Amino acid sequence: MFRPMCFTALDSCSVERFQDDDAGYRTWLYANMSGYVVNALRGPNLGVPILHRATCETITPTPDKAWTAEYIKVCSTDRFELEGWAREHNQRLHPCEFCNP
Ligand SMILES: [Zn+2]
Repeated sequence: MFRPMCFTALDSCSVERFQDDDAGYRTWLYANMSGYVVNALRGPNLGVPILHRATCETITPTPDKAWTAEYIKVCSTDRFELEGWAREHNQRLHPCEFCNP
């Protein structure tokens, strides 16, 4: 299930946030393999949000664990949308050292 979140009237609802929704996250990933995924701590404190490419193996969901529970996934086809999202939470994105987005 897709739950678009709009942050301003001007944006195009292109940032999607997955929390307790591994199936939705997986569906988004396979539909947007050229997109970007932010891995962030759940709740008001995002921890250190990491920016990944959708193809990064460190964020590829496997059935053996929950991928949108303790850490949530925030996805977009546009990394600048994700950087804007992080700024709204007074955070900066840190690029993943494996996929080098
Ligand atoms: Zn990565």
